[in-house]
Amino acid sequence: MLRADRSASEGIIPAIVWEAVSGSSPCGRLCGALALGATLAIVGPDRLARGPQICLISACIRRPCPACGMTRAASALFRGDLRRAMRTNPRIVLVAIVGGAILLSDLMSVVKQRR
Ligand SMILES: [Zn+2]
Repeated sequence: MLRADRSASEGIIPAIVWEAVSGSSPCGRLCGALALGATLAIVGPDRLARGPQICLISACIRRPCPACGMTRAASALFRGDLRRAMRTNPRIVLVAIVGGAILLSDLMSVVKQRR
């Protein structure tokens, strides 16, 4: 089913949610990133640290993997606490730069489409 067909038959909200979850369009990726960033900022790194450890690599090798702490670091970053984000996982800088570039490209694409 085409995206326009799905929007017409199921409503615009399910279509936006689907695009955000699947990342199938620039607008969907922007909405998904906004929802994820807001959720991480609201939950916060402290609450995330108290939660269960779900890294399978770390569970197998019994050491932190290179991506361990990335969710807490992103949460701290979305709260504007760069120092804590860097302390939690310094690789967050690379992720933020690449992710920011992708989202900026998506934003420019969406703005270009609206003109
Ligand atoms: Zn890990």
